[in-house]
Amino acid sequence: MKELVEEVKIGCHVSIAKSIDLAFDRAKKIGCSTFQVFTKNPRGWAFKEILKEEIDRFKAKYLNYNISPVVAHISYLPNLASLNDDIYTKSMVSFRKEIELCAILGIPYFVIHSGSYKGGTFQEGFEKYVESIQKGIDFGEGRVTILVENSAGGKKTLTGNFANINTVLEEINDSKVKVCFDTCHAFSAGYDISNQSGVSDFIAEVKASIGMESIAIIHANDSKTEVGSNRDLHEHLGLGKIGEIGFSELINDSALRKKPWILETPIDERRTDVDNINYLRSLIKNK
Ligand SMILES: [Zn+2]
Ligand SMILES: [Zn+2]
Repeated sequence: MKELVEEVKIGCHVSIAKSIDLAFDRAKKIGCSTFQVFTKNPRGWAFKEILKEEIDRFKAKYLNYNISPVVAHISYLPNLASLNDDIYTKSMVSFRKEIELCAILGIPYFVIHSGSYKGGTFQEGFEKYVESIQKGIDFGEGRVTILVENSAGGKKTLTGNFANINTVLEEINDSKVKVCFDTCHAFSAGYDISNQSGVSDFIAEVKASIGMESIAIIHANDSKTEVGSNRDLHEHLGLGKIGEIGFSELINDSALRKKPWILETPIDERRTDVDNINYLRSLIKNK
């Protein structure tokens, strides 16, 4: 008998324009088996009320479309490590509302950025960040897992390396905190995942720090800039500096291929989301 190969879950970030439940239809149309949304307009602090009908439709589609998990990403402005009282207060209001929306909608994962400790020390920012995540677990009432995303490093960010992310996890010590591994950010932070030995070194470091089981989802993005650049410039998969060998090594890793892969790649004349999803699928080797 032929061994059954479990399907690798691949999807991308989709729009919630007009009504949040339409994200399911957009995801389905382009062949996603998982996807990511913002729960609000990501560019401001304001919230638009979500109607009960929208919530009901979203939940019905979650049950019926066979697309899961749905992942939510925090909006752009909150800084959960901010040492500026005004920004911190605004950040926590937004963070709370966004997590509460996830709980209401039945979204199990909420990705947060690395905080920035601008204006203070690493230690001060770190303590603030840990405290914020602890509050976030309560906001989600046990229904939402918070995913700490690795950053591109530099710019006073806290999560450029997996040793620091591990310290965050150890401080909090709660199963409701896990990790979102962003390939572009890891590469820009200095992990050379563009070749076989680089990928195996990277995986060894993950195993020695957070452990593979702590990675809940993967953000699959190539990088426009060189390894260690500390820049966050996403590129189509295989067309950037990580390249085809890097992505092939990553997606064929026995542990990583079991995780949901979510693309946050550009859309331009070179490729659409469907093209990038198909490209990533084409790299999977059935072994
Ligand atoms: Zn990301
Ligand atoms: Zn990014």
